[in-house]
Formats: sequence, C-alpha cells, structure tokens
Amino acid sequence: MKKIIKITLSLICTLSLLLGCFTGCSDDGQADGGDGLSIVTTLFPAYDFARNIAGDNAEVSLLLSPGVEAHSYEPTPKDMVTIEECDFFIYNGGESETWVDSVIDSSDGNFTALKMLDCAGALLEEDHDESEGHNHEGDEAGYDEHIWTSPKICIDICTAIKDELCRLDSENSDAYEQAYNEYIQKLGELDSAIAETVNNAERKEIIFADRFPFKYFAEEYGLAYYAAFPGCSTQTEPSAAKIAELIERVNEDDIPVVFYVEMSNQKVADTISESTNAEKLLFHSCHNLTKDEMDAGEDYISLMYKNLDNLSIALN
Ligand SMILES: [Zn+2]
Repeated sequence: MKKIIKITLSLICTLSLLLGCFTGCSDDGQADGGDGLSIVTTLFPAYDFARNIAGDNAEVSLLLSPGVEAHSYEPTPKDMVTIEECDFFIYNGGESETWVDSVIDSSDGNFTALKMLDCAGALLEEDHDESEGHNHEGDEAGYDEHIWTSPKICIDICTAIKDELCRLDSENSDAYEQAYNEYIQKLGELDSAIAETVNNAERKEIIFADRFPFKYFAEEYGLAYYAAFPGCSTQTEPSAAKIAELIERVNEDDIPVVFYVEMSNQKVADTISESTNAEKLLFHSCHNLTKDEMDAGEDYISLMYKNLDNLSIALN
C-alpha cells in the first residue's frame, strides 16, 4: 500500500515537474516520502549499528566528521537542520550530549529520537576502582556514558534501533530483522572472543595511562582497572601522585602494557612506559574514527578485534 502511494506521489511529482510546477517537489524529500528513511547519529557506534541494520533501506549519516574529537563537537546550524529533517535521530545522551535536549525541545521536526543511554543501566563513573591510592577527582563523578564499549550492551542498543526501524518502516521489517540477527551474531562472537581471552589470561588487570572510557568493558569482563583520568575527563595533566601510583602498579604487578586511547597526545603513556618495562599500546574507544580508518573500512567490530589483540598482550 505504502509503495503504491509512493509511486503515485512520484508520478504526481514528475507530472508537476513536466508542467513546470516546482513548488510541490522539494529535493530534500528524504524525511517525507523519499527513497527511504533518513537516520542521523551523533557517535560512530550508533552510525555503525544503524547502517548495518538498515542496509539499503535508509540513508544513515554521522554528525561527527572523521577525526573530530567527539567531546569537542558542537552542532552547526546545518547539523541542526539535518537533525530536524531526519526520520530517526540516534544519540548517546550523557554529559557530552546535553546539547541534544535543547535541540529536541525546540524542534519542530517530526523525527523519532533514541537515546542509547536508555538502553543500559548507567554506571557511576567512579564507583568502582580498587586502587587503594585512588584520588577522587572532586565531587564531579557523573554517570559513565560509554556504554558501547561493552558488546553485550551494543546488542541491546541494536535491538532498540531495529525495533524502531520496524515501527517506522514496517514494510521492510523482514529485512531489518534479518540484518539485525546477522549483526548481533557478530557482536555475540566478539563478546565470546573477549570473554575467552580474559578467562584464559594470566592477569585480569589493565592500566590506562590515559582517559578511561572503558568502564562498561572492564566491568563486563571482570577486569580490574587503573587509569590516569576517569571517563573522558578533560584533564590532561594527572597529578604526580597519580603517575607515581600507576608506575608502582605496573612495576609491582609486572604489567607488560600500558594503554592509550586514540586521538591522545600519549604523554602520560610515554612517561609511564619510559619509567617501566611496559610498552604502550592503543585501545580504541570508538567514539569516532579517523579519516584513514574510515577509508580503510574499519568499523566498531574490526576496531574491537584490534583492541582484543592488544588486550591479549596486556593480560599475558
Ligand atoms: Zn567519551
């Protein structure tokens, strides 16, 4: 039925064009009866999940340009229009995306919004740190927003995306269900591979000489963790006491690897690596990808397998 209406509409459209009437046929028709749904996302994981599940039935766009640091992103007026005109807006929520609330509140758009944080029980940023010398960085402990670092939670996010796609475009629900099942199987395999690596490892401890947006990851797989900064703290200089604590931890437990995150200046990792026998290795948080990674076709799952390779070195 919907198809017939669409064909009729496009016929009318063509006729109007032929008759020289351009007013009824705007070319931004994605949101109302174009070729498919238009989906707009704020972070790379949402973009990746949406494009995997929607396939050719939607146009999925990511507000972050490649290589942009997610926490310094602010929507441009053009981004606001992109959101207004979409059918389905997927955002993470949390303290990095407080701007979204005002966009949604002031919007005249007719889009559905999905907040990824609603798909998981949020963890307090600092409610679990076994380090005896751990410094609470003021009273600003917020909820950790990096829920996508746990592949298990990603399955829940994908379920919410798939359900909404089926509701918005029931005609293609079989395709969405099938793509969803294939994708969550891959997420399940990733989850099993990580769990197996951790279970067979010599250690269950990771050291991040950097930000630590991996709370959900560490908790999921039962890893103890020590980090220079909680979450995606904007701090760049840890205290001397914190550096000393991490160095002591590395030496005491004979830790082979200290991690840094993408788009980091790696200064703390260099310091700790130079003072210990630990090598520094990259662990992707997947907020966003660099242009090279995009061009190379990397995605959430491929980067998480790279993380797993480095994790395996760090735990053994
Ligand atoms: Zn972050």
